[in-house]
Amino acid sequence: MFLEPEVVYNVYFYAGLKLSREEEFQIRKEVQMFLNSGLPAGSIRVADQVLNPDVGSNPIFVCNFFFVPNSWILREQGSRFDRMSFTVMGSFPRDVAMNFDNWVEPPLTAKHKTISDYRRYLTLHEFLHVLGFDHSEDNRGIMCQQTKAHCVDYSGHIEEELHGPVREHLRQIYDQLATIRRG
Ligand SMILES: [Zn+2]
Repeated sequence: MFLEPEVVYNVYFYAGLKLSREEEFQIRKEVQMFLNSGLPAGSIRVADQVLNPDVGSNPIFVCNFFFVPNSWILREQGSRFDRMSFTVMGSFPRDVAMNFDNWVEPPLTAKHKTISDYRRYLTLHEFLHVLGFDHSEDNRGIMCQQTKAHCVDYSGHIEEELHGPVREHLRQIYDQLATIRRG
C-alpha cells in the first residue's frame, strides 16, 4: 500500500555555489538518507519531490531546504548568524537555510566525529525545527546548537533521543495531522 507523505520537501542550491549536477544529486541523496535515518518508522512520512515525482498531491506541509553560502546568510541576517543555519518558522512552505560552508567544513564548535555525523545532525536539527521543535538545554541533545560552545557530541545519544522524547512528540504531531486530514 502506498502511504501518502505528510511532508514533502525540496532541496535547492544557491546558484553562486556552482555545484555540478552530480554534486547536487549527491547532497540530495544525503539529505534523504539523514531524514529517513532520523525519523522513526510510523511517525512522519517525508518524501523528496524531485527524487519521488509522483508523491502525494496533498501534503500537510512543504519544506524547502536551501543550500546557501555563509556569505549569503551574513548578508541576509547579519553577523550574529555567522556560521549558522536557520529555519523560518511560521512560513508556508517552511524554508530552511542550510549553511553550505558548514556542510563542507563543520564549525570548530561542532563535536561530531565524522562529517557525515555532523551533516546528519544539521539536517535533522533543522528539520525538527520545521516540525515545531525549539532549542533544548540538553547539551547532548540534537536540539542543542552546535555553533554554541556548550554542546557535546550527541552521536552516542541520538538513537535514544530520537526513539524516546522525539518519537513521542512526532506521534503527537502525526495524530494532529491525521485529525486535520480527516476533518
Ligand atoms: Zn537550531
